[in-house]
Amino acid sequence: MLSVDDARMVVLEHARPLAPQVAALTPSLLGHILAEGVASDIDSPPFDKAMMDGYAVRAADCTGDVVLRVIEEIAAGMVPTQTLTPGTASRIMTGAPIPPGADAVVKIEATAAHPDGVRIFTSASVDSNRLRRGQEMANGEIVLDIGTLLRPAEFGLLASMGRTTVSVYPAPRVAILSTGSELVEADQTPRGGQIRNSNGPMLLMQTVRAGGEPHYLGIASDDPESLRALLRQGLEYDVLLVSGGVSMGDYDLVPKMLEELGVTAHFHKIKLKPGKPLLFGTRGDTLVFGLPGNPVSSFVCFELIVRAALEKLRGILTPGPRRWMTPLTANFAHTTDRETYYPANLDPAQGVRPVAWFGSADLRGITRANAFIVVPPGEHAFAAGQFVWVMPFDLAGNS
Ligand code: AMP
Ligand code: MG
Repeated sequence: MLSVDDARMVVLEHARPLAPQVAALTPSLLGHILAEGVASDIDSPPFDKAMMDGYAVRAADCTGDVVLRVIEEIAAGMVPTQTLTPGTASRIMTGAPIPPGADAVVKIEATAAHPDGVRIFTSASVDSNRLRRGQEMANGEIVLDIGTLLRPAEFGLLASMGRTTVSVYPAPRVAILSTGSELVEADQTPRGGQIRNSNGPMLLMQTVRAGGEPHYLGIASDDPESLRALLRQGLEYDVLLVSGGVSMGDYDLVPKMLEELGVTAHFHKIKLKPGKPLLFGTRGDTLVFGLPGNPVSSFVCFELIVRAALEKLRGILTPGPRRWMTPLTANFAHTTDRETYYPANLDPAQGVRPVAWFGSADLRGITRANAFIVVPPGEHAFAAGQFVWVMPFDLAGNS
């Protein structure tokens, strides 16, 4: 049986970035990954620029307390017409071009009006409050690399370079299928033996959070006809997520049915709690995940394995969950025979504590959590203050 890390590696070997597309820089591109390096078409700033309101001067003139003759006033958007000569200065505003002959700007607070011009109290050194042409970025320089995540600042920078379209990796199209004859949708009242389908909506939202484009296929009952038809549909997508029916029960038909449909299984079962029955296979470029039916198992398998696959398809260069060590804020005793991902509440400033949790069907426990504590196999009695490994899954919520 593979470890979680080895299973993720197998999945990532089979996941290749999707073919890039050129797209307009609209809000729907937020969170996409650049598939091209973007070069600047300008020097920025486009001229030597004043970084303060004050006076453009020759640093050599400003030796302590001097009076300079003012020859011009330059606002942002204007072009200077006068060249500074010894003993002169130009009034200048933030963002305006520094005139020829000047090599520094003295801020207004270090000056005072004087009948002969302006009095400068301070000494100035060359380049003070002057940003040289092209200092932020030079024409032709690659300023955003392939693999860059498009966040708000990147949109601003792209606009400054005159870009209205870019090449990005598209969102993976993810089919989501729930299986189980006991399942009904949320708008139905469960009758004897039935339960509501929670994995469908949950996996759909996890897919959105992971940058995928979800396509919900509904519920397949545990009979070959129903399952075959829906699995066949699902295999037309970049990724197929099937929940339920991958364990050892008499009605767990998914592994056999996938095989019949031409899916090659790369592993079935991993050393993980909750989530041991996980199946991963491929047909052509389609990645297929058979997720265990218990909602928390499904959730964990998605966060640990599926998310990394979606990240790789989206062009993220270093996919996979982040984890780090942090102190416990409560005692925590736990015994397990497999690597266990225990729902926990992480406060990045304080530390982590386990939440009340009753096992692989207890989705309510997950709603109290924003991270997992990674517990290695063994018998553990961690004391508050001890460092443990944590893996956040949704730091913004429920902390
Ligand atoms: P299975 O993996 O099909 O053996 O299912 C394991 C457990 O998870 C059973 O108790 C199922 O009823 C439950 N289960 C399966 N699919 C879902 C689902 N979509 N939503 C909620 N519970 C489910
Ligand atoms: Mg089932």
